[in-house]
Amino acid sequence: MARFYHKCYFCGGKVSEKKINVDYRWGEDLITVFKNVPAGVCQVCGEQYYKAEIVKKMERSAKSKEKAKEFIRVPVRELQVT
Ligand SMILES: [Zn+2]
Repeated sequence: MARFYHKCYFCGGKVSEKKINVDYRWGEDLITVFKNVPAGVCQVCGEQYYKAEIVKKMERSAKSKEKAKEFIRVPVRELQVT
């Protein structure tokens, strides 16, 4: 069943649901990548909206001990700015 999304808060554009990949961050060093997350995406400016139930699901899954589908290596860099 399709979830309902309000018009874009920023530009008033139409928001429709798409499956996107999300880099979900929790704590300082922990990142979980979720694939195929249903989110509302503004067709004009691209702003993304998540339903509370989806955010909760990601939160639960990120903290759970369930085995990840795969692991990726992520480079960590420090930006040298003068
Ligand atoms: Zn928008």
